[in-house]
Amino acid sequence: MPSAELIAIGTELLLGEIQDTNSRFLARQLRDLGVDLFRTTNIGDNAARIASAVNEALSRVNIVITTGGLGPTVDDPTRDAIAQAFNTPAVFHPDIWKVIEDRFLRRGVTPTENNKRQAFLPVGAKVISNPVGTAPAFSISREGRTVFCLPGVPKEMEYLFLESVLPQIKAEYHLHSVIKVRVVRLAGIGESVVDQSIAELERMSNPTVGLLAHPGLVDIRITAKSVNDSSADTMITTVEKQLLSLFPTDFYGFDGQTLASNIVSIIESRQLKITIFESGLSDKWPVELSSSPLISVKSSEVPINLVDIPKNNSDSSILQFFCDFSENLGEGCLEYVVQFRSFQHHASMLYNGPQAQSPAWAINRALDVIRRTLNEHLN
Ligand code: ATP
Ligand code: MG
Repeated sequence: MPSAELIAIGTELLLGEIQDTNSRFLARQLRDLGVDLFRTTNIGDNAARIASAVNEALSRVNIVITTGGLGPTVDDPTRDAIAQAFNTPAVFHPDIWKVIEDRFLRRGVTPTENNKRQAFLPVGAKVISNPVGTAPAFSISREGRTVFCLPGVPKEMEYLFLESVLPQIKAEYHLHSVIKVRVVRLAGIGESVVDQSIAELERMSNPTVGLLAHPGLVDIRITAKSVNDSSADTMITTVEKQLLSLFPTDFYGFDGQTLASNIVSIIESRQLKITIFESGLSDKWPVELSSSPLISVKSSEVPINLVDIPKNNSDSSILQFFCDFSENLGEGCLEYVVQFRSFQHHASMLYNGPQAQSPAWAINRALDVIRRTLNEHLN
C-alpha cells in the first residue's frame, strides 16, 4: 500500500487565522483510496523550510501533496521551494504564460509582471492544467516518488485533486482497495469498561477497532480495508454484530446518529410524548429535541424540588423527566426523577471530569436515562 504525507502551506494556518480544511479533505480522500497517510504538516510561507519538509517527507513516503503558495506574489513560495528541494532551477514556460495571459485578457484585465511568476516551474515538473483558477499546479518525481503541488483555495484544490491527482495515483499504484468506517455508539457505560470488554477486538489489524470517548458517551470505530465495498461491509458487519451482543442496552446508534435522534425516532414511531422539566441546563438541550412536536422542554430558573414530585401519571403516553443540574467546586451533580406510566425512578449522578464538559455530560446522561426508560418499558 502506498504511503503519503500532506504539507499545507500558508502562514495564516500557523497564525490560527484559517483552519486547514485542505488536509482534512485530502486525508479522507486518501483514506478512501487505500493510501496510508503517515503525517500532515503545516508550514509557513518560507521556501527553505518548505524545501526541507518536502525532502524529509520524500524520504519517508511515496506521495507528497502540498497545498497553497502557488499564487503570483512573492509570498507564494511553493515553486521556489520545490526547485530548492529538487536542486534545480525554475524555468519559464511560455505555454503556461499564454494560458494565464489569455484567461486575464478574456476577463478584460491585463496581467501584471507578477503573474509571470506563475509561469516558472522547477525543471522536470509536469503541469496539472487548472481550468478553475490561474495558479498552475504541477507534479514532480524523483526515484519513483512524487510531489503534487496544488493551489490553496479549497474549491480549486479539490477539483484538481479529483480530476487529475486521484486518477494518477490510482493508476500508478493499482489501487482498487477501499476503506470503510462504521461507528458504533454507546451511552451510559464507561470507556474503561468498554475497553476491557473489547481488548481482543482492539488488537486486530483489519478491520481495526478503536475507541473515542465523549462526555457520557463512547464511540467504537470499526475501519475495514478491502478490495471492494461489499467485502469491506462484510468485515465490518462481523465485528458490529459482536459489539451489539456485548453491549445490547448501551448501544443507541451508528455513525452520525445521536441520542436525541434515537429518542425522537422511538417516540415518533410510538406516538408518545416527552416533557422535560429542568433547571440548570436550559440552553444545552440538543436542537433535535425541540424540532420534534412530541417533546417539550420546560426550563426553570430555580432548582426543582425532586423529592415532592407526586407519583401519578395518568396519561400513559407521556414520559415526564424532572432534572436538576448543579455544579459545585468543579463537580457536577445531576439529580433526576423519571416517570413513565406506573414507573417512577429517582436517582442522582456525580461528575468529576473536566469542568468544561460537565453540562455535556449531564445532558447525555439525562438523554440516556430517557432512552433506557423507553426501551425497558416499551417491550
Ligand atoms: P492564490 O493564487 O489564490 O494565491 P495559492 O495557491 O497561493 O492561491 P494560498 O495563497 O496559499 O493559495 O491560499 C489561498 C487561500 O486559500 C487562502 O487565503 C485560504 O483562504 C485558502 N487556503 C489556503 N490553504 C488552505 C488550507 N490548508 N485549508 C483551507 N483553506 C486554505
Ligand atoms: Mg496565494
